[in-house]
Amino acid sequence: MLIQLRTNMNVPDIIIAIDGYSSTGKSSFAKSVASEFSFLYLDSGALYRGVTLYAMENGFIDEDCQIDLPALSAGLETLDLHFEDHGDGSQTYMGSRCIEKEIRTLTVSGKVSPIATVAEVRSYVDRKLREFGKKKRVVMDGRDIGTTVFPDAELKIFMTADPMIRAQRRALELQAKGEQADIQDVLKNLEERDYIDSHREVSPLTKAADAVVLDNSHMTMEEQLIWIEELVKKRFQC
Ligand code: C5P
Repeated sequence: MLIQLRTNMNVPDIIIAIDGYSSTGKSSFAKSVASEFSFLYLDSGALYRGVTLYAMENGFIDEDCQIDLPALSAGLETLDLHFEDHGDGSQTYMGSRCIEKEIRTLTVSGKVSPIATVAEVRSYVDRKLREFGKKKRVVMDGRDIGTTVFPDAELKIFMTADPMIRAQRRALELQAKGEQADIQDVLKNLEERDYIDSHREVSPLTKAADAVVLDNSHMTMEEQLIWIEELVKKRFQC
């Protein structure tokens, strides 16, 4: 559910980059901010998840996460991942097929971080994101938006929260979608992803020097929105 404060701020044409650890609520926050400021929301993780689903379906990644790099790189040349909104919010598409639900499963979550270490995959996703960001008035969430994709973004936020709280939130989300989710499995998955994301060679997850930290362990969405509004008001005098 999106919460809107409906204040009368005149937010300038900026890019808002939101990075942070897994399951810190980046997408929910970014979606609400986009709605509040009438900005476009872009979920960069959805593109990494889309590439992962594509690799799984075509046998380019095996059970042990061994990746067939030449085959995957060749496939990326024609892979069509994009977003469409038919009135029910932005959904991820592979060609004409909506893959929004499939990319959110724990099976895809278990393979996405190894896939996201591949330099060719990162440049494929970066190209798409930079194209979307050309018009500004965009909120983008991910792991390297403020450091690599848009290092000149006018506002950078780095999100964090207590790991157990994150695991509980994620497990509830998965259960609401009808997926079996044991809290310990979810915690393990997000700690593994954080580790791989922070230690990879290309564009590791790290706080940009000029990013503002948001620890939302004990904050409601409304409190987070009030927090960003104050920040934007102060920084851009709007
Ligand atoms: O944001 P989400 O959890 O859906 O992202 C899934 C995975 O995609 C992350 O765990 C990370 O490995 C990768 N990712 C990334 N860089 C981004 C966004 C996501 O490496 N900008």
